[in-house]
Amino acid sequence: MIQFSNVNKYFGEFHVLKDINLTIEAGEVVVILGPSGSGKSTLLRCINRLEEISSGELIVDGFKVHEPKTNINLMRQEIGMVFQHFYLYPHKTVLENITLAPIKVRKIEEGAAKKMAMELLEKVGIPEKANSYPSQLSGGQQQRVAIARGLAMKPKIMLFDEPTSALDPEMIGEVLDVMRTLAKEGMTMVCVTHEMGFAREVADRVIFMDEGRILEQESPSQFFKNPKEERTKLFLSRIL
Ligand code: ADP
Ligand code: MG
Repeated sequence: MIQFSNVNKYFGEFHVLKDINLTIEAGEVVVILGPSGSGKSTLLRCINRLEEISSGELIVDGFKVHEPKTNINLMRQEIGMVFQHFYLYPHKTVLENITLAPIKVRKIEEGAAKKMAMELLEKVGIPEKANSYPSQLSGGQQQRVAIARGLAMKPKIMLFDEPTSALDPEMIGEVLDVMRTLAKEGMTMVCVTHEMGFAREVADRVIFMDEGRILEQESPSQFFKNPKEERTKLFLSRIL
């Protein structure tokens, strides 16, 4: 579903991604860990070309992301992205936030879009908030709306960039529960998160990045029990 081959990325002189080789299969759940500034967000953003790679090849769902002529809008319809901050439209209701893209981009008829949005709100556990505005919701509820909005485009891939980092502790669980459900349903997911419990339980593979490189790719049990690199051990000793 996602294949990085010898990918490098520079911001000016700064070499932010170094020779990335990474293959993610359909249905796989990959958690990316690593210290701040190691390139996790940049790697994620390359997948839907929010950042352009400098060299190498990147293929996502058959789309050659590295080729300038690729129809990136078509590709982006297949990818949902959830950020640390929710970026909901403040002057639209929850329901409108979810139906906007399906109606405009997928050309789905309004009634059908609303029905689908209600089903998604059931799935994330807040159908009663359909007609509320984002400011009337807690952070955890807003993030669940953001996930529902991502799912409304029926994506093949969901990207999560620290989706719980801006939440109060008591709201983290409700967002992770939604992500866990998605994982069980077979969604291809790439998640940057510091939630080690989620990584252990839900990830098929853990990737550890440091200074723009992938240092380890392991099953969670191997990763947490037997980290190979000194840098990983140091990271884990600080975070666990
Ligand atoms: P992480 O998500 O692991 O914290 P990022 O991918 O956000 O790391 O950033 C990796 C490095 O690239 C950091 O040193 C950051 O300052 C730098 N960086 C990120 N975005 C830009 C940008 N648009 N221009 C220049 N440098 C950037
Ligand atoms: Mg980041």
